[in-house]
Amino acid sequence: MYYKEIAGVKVSALGMGNMRLPTVEGQGEKIDREKAREIIDYAMSHGINYYDTAYRYHAGESETFIGEALKKYPRDSYLLASKFPGHMVEKKGNGVLGFVSGLAGWPDSTVDGVFHEQLQKCGTDFFDFYLFHNVNEKSISIYNDPELDIVGYFKKQKEMGKIRHLGFSSHAVSASTIDEFLTRYEGVFDFVQIQLNYLDWKLQDAKSKVEVIGRHGLKVVVMEGVRGGRLAALPEEQMAKLRAVREADSAARWAHRWLQSIPEVAVVLSGMTTLDQIKENTETFASPDPVNEEEKALLSEVADSMLSWVPCTACRYCTEGCPNELEIPKIIAAYNGVKNGDFMARYNPDDADPSMDPRRCVACGNCASICPQGIKIPDIMEEFSKMLSK
Ligand code: SF4
Ligand code: SF4
Repeated sequence: MYYKEIAGVKVSALGMGNMRLPTVEGQGEKIDREKAREIIDYAMSHGINYYDTAYRYHAGESETFIGEALKKYPRDSYLLASKFPGHMVEKKGNGVLGFVSGLAGWPDSTVDGVFHEQLQKCGTDFFDFYLFHNVNEKSISIYNDPELDIVGYFKKQKEMGKIRHLGFSSHAVSASTIDEFLTRYEGVFDFVQIQLNYLDWKLQDAKSKVEVIGRHGLKVVVMEGVRGGRLAALPEEQMAKLRAVREADSAARWAHRWLQSIPEVAVVLSGMTTLDQIKENTETFASPDPVNEEEKALLSEVADSMLSWVPCTACRYCTEGCPNELEIPKIIAAYNGVKNGDFMARYNPDDADPSMDPRRCVACGNCASICPQGIKIPDIMEEFSKMLSK
């Protein structure tokens, strides 16, 4: 493993994301703790020291799990990052926050209540890194709200030693939103976590976001480096182009080597679900091996051929609020497959699990209101249903 720095702290170039841990078959997001623990132990024994979680990952179980899994290791042998869920709450008055529609059943709380619940769930007295989750065009008003004073509250927690370094994650549409937030709170943050990969360089203008963060002198923590697995399983035509240059390299290795070529990047998070994935990724990050200019141009070509795909990252934020318990990211993956002509033969919604049938969508819109990628999910469901009935 090679290492980089965020504000003087030595961080592993590959970080463990804890939102796609292995799950128990047929039990939604419930973590398969035995398998997940094996992955964390592998990470710890192969030099990964950065562990990222958030209030709502795995329907709230991720924080509890990672706290338990890391407990046997000395507290100074790993760095723990979690996030305040400001993008999913609304004000109810007197500092009380309720979760937005689509997350029914989550209790009202306060900023202080959420933070202390997180410390307790993670079994720690402090977070090494703490982020405001998804500062975007919509949630920025909550984070800037003078009555809630979220930034002031967490600055105080930092002074009290309960947080070592502050940052924020962002799925903002525009780089100017990130710039606005950084300018308003200049000096508060040490890093910004963004969705970055060779497809989003253009698709989500990640290039401008990296430039903005770099201009403020901060480091980038990468999420969705392989776009929820999309860039780890390229269509055969694209894969053949890559194999012609480096025969043995997987698509995921290409995506990670591209990230290694971006100087502002400190940690590349990967939501690793299997031991095979973490084995391959720790090998990729054993020492820097960034793509050269020719390889970069080739990946840009590959990205151009994929720009018409629905940009779902399989984050699963949308699934919890679906009244018909549809497997939305899997349906979108099927839709992308059908549209690209490599899935139709295998997809018949009459044979599939009802959770995979787009025709069961009632267009309630719960999913679209929470999707960080701004995907118009009910429209996709409608179009896919029409395509399948032809
Ligand atoms: S719009 Fe359709 S897919 Fe989205 S939450 Fe409602 S029923 Fe589920
Ligand atoms: S549709 Fe949006 S919220 Fe749902 S899994 Fe995909 S990216 Fe995430």
